[in-house]
Amino acid sequence: MQRRPGSTTSRKLGELALIDQIRRRVSRSSPTSLSLGIGDDCALLRLKPGEEVAVTTDLSIQNRHFRIDLHRPEAIGHRTLARGLSDIAAMGARPVAAFLSLGLPPELTQPLARKNSSWLDRFLDGFLALASKHNTPLAGGDLAQSPIALADIVLIGAVSHGKALLRSGARPGDLLYVTGSLGGSAAALKRLSRRSSRKQISDLAPHLWPQPRISQGLWLRRHNAATAAIDISDGLSTDLYHLCQESRVSAETDAVSIPIFPGATLEDALHGGEDYELLFTARPATRIPRNISGVRITLLGAIHNARANEPRIVLTDDSGRHPLEPRGWEHFSAIRAKPD
Ligand SMILES: [Mg+2]
Repeated sequence: MQRRPGSTTSRKLGELALIDQIRRRVSRSSPTSLSLGIGDDCALLRLKPGEEVAVTTDLSIQNRHFRIDLHRPEAIGHRTLARGLSDIAAMGARPVAAFLSLGLPPELTQPLARKNSSWLDRFLDGFLALASKHNTPLAGGDLAQSPIALADIVLIGAVSHGKALLRSGARPGDLLYVTGSLGGSAAALKRLSRRSSRKQISDLAPHLWPQPRISQGLWLRRHNAATAAIDISDGLSTDLYHLCQESRVSAETDAVSIPIFPGATLEDALHGGEDYELLFTARPATRIPRNISGVRITLLGAIHNARANEPRIVLTDDSGRHPLEPRGWEHFSAIRAKPD
């Protein structure tokens, strides 16, 4: 959100006014992790001694990751930040600051007729509410005119040196766990796509308002409880495959042990994606509580040796044991592409 003379937008005054507007909203709180926020050429972040920096970036594009006609602006803002925070959570890091670059068609920045707030105001309502919940200041970014809406989020986190939770730490004999429940986002997205009215939104919460598991990631890291972790953005089948690939192990799980969100199907839970729960492994002797910071933890299965370095994931159900292929992103491809 720096005032750069070379910034590529045809609405220069509009851009400056918008940035001032955002800056005023953000400067109401000043967390200790931020020495200098929006307004200078760079933000200055404050880390604690012995910490290293965790950085993640996520691009959300209209008609790929969200639809203006389907998703409320507040939910798009929330989800934009939630995707980044979920990656920070998966590393066991604490969030330090967020940087947001927006490309927007001009009409989304102007107040709607008979209303005081624009699409952008409402996007920021959702974004800043989640940011404040996780003590994550918006410390900078950019704003440009664009034919379609897109939001690029950069999240900075901090974690004690050498203590980050990695995908590569799982070992044969480890047990496999997941936070919360799965499939809720995919099931809600199907309901949302079918619905002409968006009035009843309570059953859409897992899709519209996913809750990044920051507290759970921090708990696992502080207690040295997890050997590996990943957040479930692409679906259990795909993200478990990623974890096994990085750790060079195989895994097995059982359909009855998968915590399926009420109203979702096993298929939603396995392949739906965008649940933003944490999938993690722990040594069998490590005591994992049934719930961490109010979120249920479920034992999903176990980690085994990989044959020829090729991860093999086995799902047991009523009809026996089957290979579980990573195919999370293929579903709902009509309205979104593979989330990164
Ligand atoms: Mg991730």
